[in-house]
Amino acid sequence: MHRRRQRPPGGPGSVLVPVRSMAAVHVRRRRTAALVTGGGLAGLGGLIVLVGLLAAFSGDEPARAPASSRPAAAEPRVQAPPDPLTPRSVRATGTLVAVPAEDSSTGPAGGLGFAVEVEKGIAMDRAAFGREVERTLLDRRGWTAGGAYSLRRADAEEASFRVTLASPDTTDRLCAPLATNGTYSCHQNGRAVLNAERWARGAEAYGRDLARYRQYMVNHEVGHALGKSHRECPGEGTRAPVMVQQTKGVAPCAPNPWPLESER
Ligand SMILES: [Zn+2]
Repeated sequence: MHRRRQRPPGGPGSVLVPVRSMAAVHVRRRRTAALVTGGGLAGLGGLIVLVGLLAAFSGDEPARAPASSRPAAAEPRVQAPPDPLTPRSVRATGTLVAVPAEDSSTGPAGGLGFAVEVEKGIAMDRAAFGREVERTLLDRRGWTAGGAYSLRRADAEEASFRVTLASPDTTDRLCAPLATNGTYSCHQNGRAVLNAERWARGAEAYGRDLARYRQYMVNHEVGHALGKSHRECPGEGTRAPVMVQQTKGVAPCAPNPWPLESER
């Protein structure tokens, strides 16, 4: 819009602009009006009018040349932004890095403290992982529902248990003697150990729904931290208790990432 003002007065633009403006106005009112206008302009003859009409049909922005360096408008919208919760790469180092609680961290002061840590070598936004764990554990559908448990995000030194994202090799080491086989997650020695490959790829029962599978991982392993044991699917078509080993499959139950009332 402002480009019109930038045109040098008296240049070819001063002719072209009224042509386009008139054409646009008349097209909006009535097609025949545009034709009449076009006929009148044709009477003027000459190359300027021809160029003006071509420009009018090519769009609203006559000053295209300076703007041609802009990327095509559709390009940026095609690519989805990367998921900050999906590791870009996973490498075993055996070094666990604490993810400190944030100013925004919540949970009652008297709650059971949980700390978050991520293995060095897992390339991802650790703070985002910490917030996701916190969001899941403090969700009103989670273990704190109905006041059954009281949880709060804490730093490592004051935590009752930890939620740890680890490479498959480190998961196996932290979980031993439980056999996680580079595939599963566990709770062992005060740690809910989440296998980073699982976290990244999910499990068959949840299909492409990584978000819900991740909620399941957190709630299931933290369920062990709260003293819960494994459950069986109670019957066809019902929601699986969160303490069912859903990574191994939930059929004939339906996948469910939240503790059932009967589990709390
Ligand atoms: Zn388990």
